[in-house]
Amino acid sequence: MNEHYSNYVNNRVLKIQIGFLLNETVGESRDTEFDVPHLLVDNDLLLEHLSGKLHFSRNSRGVLVQGKLHAQLHGECTRCLEQAPINVELPIEELYVSPPQPDAEFSIPESGILDLAPLIREEVIVQTPITVLCRPDCAGLCPTCGANLNEGPCDCERDTIDPRLAALKALRDQLQDE
Ligand SMILES: [Zn+2]
Ligand SMILES: [Zn+2]
Repeated sequence: MNEHYSNYVNNRVLKIQIGFLLNETVGESRDTEFDVPHLLVDNDLLLEHLSGKLHFSRNSRGVLVQGKLHAQLHGECTRCLEQAPINVELPIEELYVSPPQPDAEFSIPESGILDLAPLIREEVIVQTPITVLCRPDCAGLCPTCGANLNEGPCDCERDTIDPRLAALKALRDQLQDE
């Protein structure tokens, strides 16, 4: 997978020099626009088409970051395991405190560089659906031979009975015998 990383911008684009805003008075703000085709947020988190605008505003406790980003993730269909891109919306509203405080989740270090990567990572995890389908009617894999049933039926016996239904079938057969 490493060779694919060459297309990806590293997470330096998520480190925003905000020191000048810390020197401004409360209420000052600026907007930053994101449009990154391929982004490596972390070794295990790749985003496609990260876009959107964030508003950074100075308040008495630090810098408040607000806005909404959009991105696409590399997902896998829960049923057939084929690739299934996942579109996620990332609503952002977070205070980065300055100076740093031990009890604050996000803070701005002395360098004045605000790092959005941990926040985006957290938001991606929250916004990623547990069930991902390549299409709403994905037929999934054959439980017997593993064939992708979206590509057509396999040669397995179709009347093999679901074990959960086997007990019911036994009961029905018993009733019919009586
Ligand atoms: Zn699928
Ligand atoms: Zn099969």
